[in-house]
Amino acid sequence: MLNSVRVRLTFWYTGVLACVLVLLAFMTYFVLRENFSRRMDSSAAEIADSFLATVNAEAKEESGPKALQDALATGIAEHRLADTIFIALDSHGQILASSDEQPSDLKERVAGLQSLRTVHIGHRRYRTYIRPFTVATQQLTLILLQSLHRQNEFLENLVGTFAVVIPLTLVLASAGGYFLARRSLSPVVAMSDQAKQIGASNLRERLSVKNSNDELGQLALSFNQLLQRLDTSFEQQQRFTADASHELRTPVAILFGEADVALSQSTRSPEEYRETLNILRSEAGRLKDIVEGLFTLTRADAGQYPLTVSEFYLDELVSECARHLRTVASAKAVELSCDARKELPIRGDEGLLRRMLLNVLDNAIKYTPARGKVAISCQICESGYCVTVRDTGCGIPSDLHERIFERFFRVDKVRSRNEGGGAGLGLSISAWIAEAHGGRIELSYSNEDGSLFSIFLPKS
Ligand code: ADP
Repeated sequence: MLNSVRVRLTFWYTGVLACVLVLLAFMTYFVLRENFSRRMDSSAAEIADSFLATVNAEAKEESGPKALQDALATGIAEHRLADTIFIALDSHGQILASSDEQPSDLKERVAGLQSLRTVHIGHRRYRTYIRPFTVATQQLTLILLQSLHRQNEFLENLVGTFAVVIPLTLVLASAGGYFLARRSLSPVVAMSDQAKQIGASNLRERLSVKNSNDELGQLALSFNQLLQRLDTSFEQQQRFTADASHELRTPVAILFGEADVALSQSTRSPEEYRETLNILRSEAGRLKDIVEGLFTLTRADAGQYPLTVSEFYLDELVSECARHLRTVASAKAVELSCDARKELPIRGDEGLLRRMLLNVLDNAIKYTPARGKVAISCQICESGYCVTVRDTGCGIPSDLHERIFERFFRVDKVRSRNEGGGAGLGLSISAWIAEAHGGRIELSYSNEDGSLFSIFLPKS
């Protein structure tokens, strides 16, 4: 039962309310009691003043041995008040006069009484007020005892009321609290039921959002956004797998076809075997490139491709890549130039950056016809370093510029294959390498006169 948020909320709510109510009840009780005592003390002082004034006046008028007792008796008679006891003591502590109604054990207690205290005498509680006074040269003491009976009765009634009202309030409040918790959490229950229905087969479904401005609406929106991201990545994954298997199918089919043809002919010249083996080797090479590309991208996606970072010079790496592809370019009669004169120290994964530069430069040579030009250069720019690869090749149609870095994307599959191109993974791997170094790669322009790829890298 305690596993339910509704029940826990109700318990907390009721518990806190109970503490507040009990504290309030205690405070009310003690503040009222204190207030009663203070009011009684000040009224006792007023009664004593009036009593002593009467006694003094009477003592002046009276004469004879019993004059003092008579004056006191008159004072008591004139100030006869319900619930108030007057006692006058002589200098030896003997009672000279007192009110008629007295608690049974008053006499024994009189000597030990202190002023402004609450005492139990008989079955009742009294507030004491003691004042010494002088009448006709005699030192006397006035003791006033005011019964707290009515106040106690009031306080007892108050406690009784609290004892009924507090539990009743708690029962009503907990029922109301449970109802409210149930009502406000019902969208969560509905969302959870809806979420349970969503699986890989219906990732397009979304949770219904009643009010997008409240917290639960925000939760549903966040969940829907998560579903959207999952759906997109699921779709990408599916497309990736479909594209990958499609790409792998062609070289595998060629391998099989070539092997079948070779096996079906009983006699073949060594040249024919050599040609078949060359085809098999080239297709196996394609397979190897695709598998390696796929492996790199899957590891990169999973964040499991650790960078081997070192310090080196970017200009040297650019020159090295240009040197590396010079023979490929001259074999195609493409003029390759390199401008890397400034020293550009950098920190990064040299192997990966080499792979990225070779990729982009290789593409430029591949898609540039004979007597065309390819130029690679590197320089300092605002955001760090910028490597540009410019060619005078066939260019990429403007409507496909956006898609050029997508996996397995090729402008013309047949042409790409005939020109020794890969499976369309080169630029997506290059884009990942640039991003992994905190940089980016972009196609700055491309038209029928050629293309310009720019790679931006931070300095270190
Ligand atoms: P591939 O391995 O097939 O070359 P890439 O990802 O490197 O794959 O390139 C994707 C596609 O972009 C290529 O198939 C090609 O159509 C196009 N492309 C890339 N670079 C150039 C370029 N310099 N000039 C013209 N087209 C290019």
